[in-house]
Amino acid sequence: HPELVTLGEVMAVAAATSPGPLATGAPLRLGWAGAEATVAVGVSRLGHTSAWTGRVGEDATGAMVLAGLRAEGVDVSGARADPTAPTGLMLRERRTADRLRVTYYRAGLAGSRLAPEDLDEARIARARILHVTGITPALSPTARAAVERAVTVARAAGVTVSFDVNHRERLWSRAEAADALGHVLPYADIVFAGPEEAALFVPEGEPERMARALTRLGPAQAVLKLGADGALAVADGALHVRRAVPVTAVDPVGAGDAFVSGYLAAALDGSPVPERLRLAALCGAFAVSVPGDWEGLPRRAELGLLAAQDISR
Ligand code: ATP
Repeated sequence: HPELVTLGEVMAVAAATSPGPLATGAPLRLGWAGAEATVAVGVSRLGHTSAWTGRVGEDATGAMVLAGLRAEGVDVSGARADPTAPTGLMLRERRTADRLRVTYYRAGLAGSRLAPEDLDEARIARARILHVTGITPALSPTARAAVERAVTVARAAGVTVSFDVNHRERLWSRAEAADALGHVLPYADIVFAGPEEAALFVPEGEPERMARALTRLGPAQAVLKLGADGALAVADGALHVRRAVPVTAVDPVGAGDAFVSGYLAAALDGSPVPERLRLAALCGAFAVSVPGDWEGLPRRAELGLLAAQDISR
């Protein structure tokens, strides 16, 4: 049985390889991305088993996504190719040398058609961790129902529920997100959020205060991601602070998911919270140092490459 089970949306990514407007035509590189899939890949690269569930279209990009996940050792036997809608697409335009412009084609497409009947409930109940994000409930009513069903099944079976708030302001308003995600939060054992995301549920303030407030809403562990300033966790009442690993950042996208993959892989190792944060920060640093969301995630044997720079230990 996979140790970590996750569900969500994956999309094809067409990324400009050089700066300039896409409107006049530009060379593109084809890949794929998805927050939960990134976590599954990260956990797999760190030596634990993972499975991803969701829908892609019955098309070339859908096949690419599933082949890519399989190549990373992620179990996609529960994923579906939906004949009624194409795989979603993200266009990444490098409008100028240092300004990205991202356009999504996802509304109504295969990823958003995820539904409760796609879940293998027995598999969730046998996992050690279920990981969900706040992106999925924003995609459609059925996707939201799938997340709610998954966390209910996991909780009833005593499976650790990990929840990354991942508020996406293009998909819904803060009020809508706070309402819908407020129904998921009480089921979580571990919650990950940035300060603005935490503020969906608790008063704004110092990160430690916000993390403590989150733990009063259900999760025993609240982890606040603070970008280049690192992260902090409140776990069973105790505060743990972690600085970021100093690296040259070339692409901030995916740092949060990489961080979560490191944290959860260390949890699967049976490591205590400080070691979870250490591995999380290393994975975040690998992700920001490489273009792409998941491509730069480390294997166990590679951790030493950046650990040597980890002066904060
Ligand atoms: P995103 O949504 O862009 O994927 P996020 O906002 O969820 O990211 P961040 O707080 O930006 O998450 O990053 C998560 C972790 O990654 C940080 O706690 C830190 O350890 C690491 N990280 C992020 N940015 C940097 C950086 N510039 N240098 C080193 N480490 C970084």
